[in-house]
This record gives sequence, structure tokens and C-alpha cells, in this order.
Amino acid sequence: MLAKVLGSTVYGIEAYLVDVEVDVSQGIPAFDIVGLPDTAVREARERVRAAVKNCGFEMPTRRITVNLAPADLRKEGSGFDLPIAVGLLVASEQLDPAKVHNVVFAGELSLDGALRPIHGALPMAIAAKREGRRFVVPIDNVREATLVEGLEVTSARNLAELLWAISGHGTLPLPPAVAVPAARESCDFKDIAGQEQAKRALEIAAAGGHNVLLVGPPGSGKTLLARHLPSILPPMQPQEALEVTKVYSVAGLLTDRGTLMTERPFRAPHHSISYGGLIGGGKIPEPGEVSLAHHGVIFLDELPEFSKRVLEQLRQPLEDGSVTIARVSATLTYPAQFMLVAAMNPCPCGFLGDKLKACTCSSGEALRYQGKISGPLLDRIDLQLSVPRLEYDELTERAKGESSATIRARVETARARQEARLKPYGVFCNARLQHRHLRKLTVAPDGVKLLKQAYIKLALSARAHDRILKVARTIADLAGSEAIEAVHMAEAISYRAIS
Ligand SMILES: [Zn+2]
Repeated sequence: MLAKVLGSTVYGIEAYLVDVEVDVSQGIPAFDIVGLPDTAVREARERVRAAVKNCGFEMPTRRITVNLAPADLRKEGSGFDLPIAVGLLVASEQLDPAKVHNVVFAGELSLDGALRPIHGALPMAIAAKREGRRFVVPIDNVREATLVEGLEVTSARNLAELLWAISGHGTLPLPPAVAVPAARESCDFKDIAGQEQAKRALEIAAAGGHNVLLVGPPGSGKTLLARHLPSILPPMQPQEALEVTKVYSVAGLLTDRGTLMTERPFRAPHHSISYGGLIGGGKIPEPGEVSLAHHGVIFLDELPEFSKRVLEQLRQPLEDGSVTIARVSATLTYPAQFMLVAAMNPCPCGFLGDKLKACTCSSGEALRYQGKISGPLLDRIDLQLSVPRLEYDELTERAKGESSATIRARVETARARQEARLKPYGVFCNARLQHRHLRKLTVAPDGVKLLKQAYIKLALSARAHDRILKVARTIADLAGSEAIEAVHMAEAISYRAIS
């Protein structure tokens, strides 16, 4: 007999429904899966065989053929175990086909029949809702799935319990949600002495979503400043929160959470990170750090220590806000609209340009060190500034700076101003403005003159020119000004002075 059940596969951060057709017929015993399955899907045979037997069902000793349709869509991951097992039980007349009608199944089986969590349950749930179906997932994915309002979700711990539940016997209680600590409370800008210019630059960065590079000697507080950035970031818009939560679902990092992610991600990968870890990919493709930082921050400390090849890969996401990963049969795209915050020493010893301590590097060494950051990458960093060693007076003054809450309030006001202006363009902050949008910005004549002078004097690239304009727009937003005035432009240009 032929059975048809529904499964789902994830591409990037979107999911698609897949027809899982299972035919059990007379013939030499065999178990074949066709329809572009990857290795993990092909291995489903062994898991399904053992799980069906160990849950007390009969494994038919006949010819079993599983077809995944549409055939041109590549099926990845272990989430097909469950629909294949359910289809097999229907095709061998151990389960009523009416029970699986209009249901999307997703789950990995262990050999004893236990259901293991899968990656991407949230996008799959969204796809199930879109198509008007019910959704069945392992118990560890149920919180993600129930984030989709109005979707009927059933879950279980193992195959036997699941069949009992879909036969109308009721569902299990939800597992307890794990409380997620609020990162924001843990650090406050008022505890950082001095460094007013760097704090100002970070405020501008947070307000407009701009990239920042902090250059200074060891101990000047670059890392501390960067790590405090989350405390002044604006909350996410609902659409941003949903996108970020989908990325974490696909990465399998969401299983315990029962809510949308509301705080912007802050990722700080070590400089030994690989290409795949940063950009994404792997045998079963997963989002990399740049996508886990979507709508948030990626912090790269000691920037020149990262491999040059890895750093160059940042250019595409910095420009496009997404990464494309080539696969054998298709290309995948993950979103990656992050703020890049990077820190580095000015030279290998760290003291080039320091007022008190002499640099021991040769000029060649210092140049080679700075040369590890290519011009095109630097071009994409909107705010570049020196973070000098603190003066003695600054160090000893009792912290009397502004609190993060005060700064964040200004950031949020600036974001609200942007929101109204940027809505027609479909972007959330000034940093995401496209070149064609920039002509519509209102710039005072003095501001235009300044930018022209800087373009010539600093030999700026077209890209740097655009980025200065966007930073100036954010500075004007922080100042509550409709037009970009000369003073806003001058400040924006000053953050380009070290390159
Ligand atoms: Zn040095």
C-alpha cells in the first residue's frame, strides 16, 4: 500500500513542506530512499528500522520505497526520520491514514524510538501554519513551534507516545522554559572612566547600526568598551526579533526557549575561528557567527590575529547583509545584517604613538601588522578611532560618566526618527541605506562642501564617501536635526582620520 505524509526541509532560514511517499509492496526485502536525500536522510533507514521494532511495531519484510517530493529540492538533516517512520506504519496498515492527514511531521529518531530535537523547528512551524497544517515535533522543539500563533502543535518523547497522542488521546504538558539572563543589566557605561570620544562613537554606532574599529594600546579599555555596547543597543523590532529567532532555531540553539529573542545578539568569536565557523556551512549547513549576529553585534578582538582569508570573507556580508554558501546542488543564503565592532593594537608591541611607552617595532613590522587589514575591509568600517591610554587624572576620577540607560534613551529616540524615514526603503537603520537612497538625504550646503573637501584631501573611495554620509545622518538624528549640517558632517569625517 502507498502512504503519503508531510515532512519539511529548511533552506537558509525558510522551510518548505515535502511530500514523503512510502510504498510497501511484494518483492525482495529492501529499503530505498529516493528524491535527492543527503547522507543524514539516507541514514534514516537504519534509525527508522530499529525505532519501529523497539517501539513494538512490526517492520515489514517486504520492498519499501520512500520518495521525497518535489525531487529537485535537496532534503537535508535528520528530521525526515519521523515522517518516514509514520509513513511506513501507515503503508503497512499499522496506523490509520486519517490520523496523519494534514499533519507535518519533523523529528529525529534514536534506535530505541526516542524523538530527538531537530534544527529549524521554528521555520518549519511557520511553513506548516502558512499551508494550514498541524505540526508534530519532538518534545524538545515544542516551545519553538508554539511561537507561531494559531498553529496546532503536538509533541511527544518517543514514537509510541506520539502515535498515542495523534490518535486523539491528548498531548503532553509543556516542558519548563529556561530563564534567559538579561545581559543588559550586567554592565553599565557609568562604570567606565574617561574615554568620552570612544563612548560617543559607540553611541553613534548603536544609533545607526554602524561598524566600528577601535585602535589603541593594550589596557586602554577597547575590549571593555566593546563589551558594554549591548547595554546601549535599542530593542529589536518585532520583525527583527522573528528573523533572529529563526536563525537560532536553524542553528539548533533555541530548544529551551519559550519566547522570541528580544535582545540583540552579541557574538565574540575567537581569532582562531575557521571560515565555516564565521560564515556558515558544513555537512549539514548551519549559520555561522555572522548570521548568529544578525541584527546584533559581532565583536572581533585583536583583529589582525584573525586569518586574512577569514577576514576577507566579511566583505560580502558587510556589503549585502547576507551570506551565500555554495552547496553541491544549490546555494543557500543566510541573513547577516550585523554591526562589526573590531579592536586592534596599532602595532605588534601595541605602543605605536603612545605618549609614555616607546614602540619597539620596526616601521616595517608596524606596516605589515596594519596591512593585515585590507583597504576594502577598512573601507567598510564606518567609524575608525584611536582609543589612547587614559591620562592619570581620568583614571583616578571616580566614574561619573553617563549611565547606559541615559545613552540608550538617546539611541532609541534616534532610531525612532530613522524608522519613519527608512520605512519606504525596507531597512531599519541608517547603516543599511543603499547608495540610491543617499541622494534623497537633505544636506546643508556647508556640509556638502566639507564632504567634497574630505573626499579629495583624504583620497576617499566612493564607498567611504557613502559611509560618511550615513554616519553624518545618524549624528544628525542624535541631534534631532532634519538636515545634515556641517557640524554633523565634520564629526562623521573625523572618524575616518586614522586610515
Ligand atoms: Zn610597536
